[in-house]
Amino acid sequence: MRDAASERTRHSEYFFDRHPRSFGPVIEFYRTGKLHLVEDVCALSFADDLDYWGVDELFIEPCCQYKYTERRDRVNDDIKRDAEALKQALVEDEHKGSGRITDARRRVWNFMEKPQTSIAARVLHIYNVDSALA
Ligand SMILES: [Zn+2]
Repeated sequence: MRDAASERTRHSEYFFDRHPRSFGPVIEFYRTGKLHLVEDVCALSFADDLDYWGVDELFIEPCCQYKYTERRDRVNDDIKRDAEALKQALVEDEHKGSGRITDARRRVWNFMEKPQTSIAARVLHIYNVDSALA
């Protein structure tokens, strides 16, 4: 009886432990030399996938470059803004000792557990899912 690994080896198949969301554009890039952005993929996830497949984001075609850069920068800005707001709320709580701790806890909880509450939480959720699948 053969196991799955030996069966793959026998047929010269390769298994990539990676979500397939960006595989289409990447394989198309290796075929044609043209790389386009995938519509429904987070820009940071796409960047992470490009890094995994060894494709520099500078190869993204001009028609998609602006959209990609804008999305990536917006998500990074949202993450920074949320982190700063959270940090500020925690600092203010330490100084005021008011009921803002409850608000800060809720924001942390939403950030960690509710991906629908912000783009930053969604990105964190995607990375968590990717990590769990990797
Ligand atoms: Zn394009």
